Amino acid sequence: MQHIAPKKSLGQNFLVDSNIAEKIVRLFEPAEGEVVVEIGPGEGALTTNLLKSGCDVIAVEIDREAADLIEKRFGSDVEIIRNDILKTDLSRIAADKGVEKLRVIGNIPYYITAPILFHLIDHQRVISDTTLMMQREVAERLTASPRTKDYGILSVAIQTWTEPKRLFNVPPSCFFPRPKVTSTVVALKVRERTELTGIEREHQQLVRGAFSKRRKTLQNALTELIPNRDERTEIFRRAEIDPQRRAEELAPEEYIQFARVFADAGAGAAG
Ligand code: SAM
Repeated sequence: MQHIAPKKSLGQNFLVDSNIAEKIVRLFEPAEGEVVVEIGPGEGALTTNLLKSGCDVIAVEIDREAADLIEKRFGSDVEIIRNDILKTDLSRIAADKGVEKLRVIGNIPYYITAPILFHLIDHQRVISDTTLMMQREVAERLTASPRTKDYGILSVAIQTWTEPKRLFNVPPSCFFPRPKVTSTVVALKVRERTELTGIEREHQQLVRGAFSKRRKTLQNALTELIPNRDERTEIFRRAEIDPQRRAEELAPEEYIQFARVFADAGAGAAG
């Protein structure tokens, strides 16, 4: 098989251990008729295994050289979108394909792991689940519990919108070139979150506001978002959240409750 010279700037660490590639796809369980979006196929380590299941593969690849290689290797078996995943409208893909839900997989470029996760959250309505390989440190943040150092905006966002599960670690020796860090494969199953419909913005404002000053009490951290002191006190009271607590002490479910009251109070309109 032809190879390309890895580009560090695009986070190209190709998976060269075929057993691991096969295992990731086996656990993902693609099925015939499903539409699977692969983020950054590179040289096609995961793609080749996906195709064996008979699913429809749509590969989003920013690197022209890698996209050319995928085209040459798999021909019309793979639909290639030559674009930045962060600029790719997944809702559009689902609509074009005539499916309600897409499945998403990828050994993603580590330099944009968090932006990719937020992009997928933005399109969660058209995604059923995703399996991603990322650096272990980020994977640990996704599943972190409140009151731990890893618990932050990413943990709350991911745990609110998905059920995250860390599957297994992959050592640097399985890649070319070898990354400096250990990787982890994570499965995220998207949750139905009807109670947040229409108040997603308020929820996001609240979580970001709270964590922007994570060392402060919520009472102090949220002064910018809810400047009126009486209004703030009332929102805390109605949400049954002690204003002396800090951002990292609140569970994802508490942020949802908080967001509902915050939205009801119309306080989000200011932002
Ligand atoms: N899936 C392949 C594998 O497992 O060997 C390649 C993984 S490599 C870690 C990341 C891939 O994502 C590369 O092919 C890279 O060109 C591509 N990539 C980097 N930035 C991207 C972006 N913004 N949008 C889409 N693909 C991107």
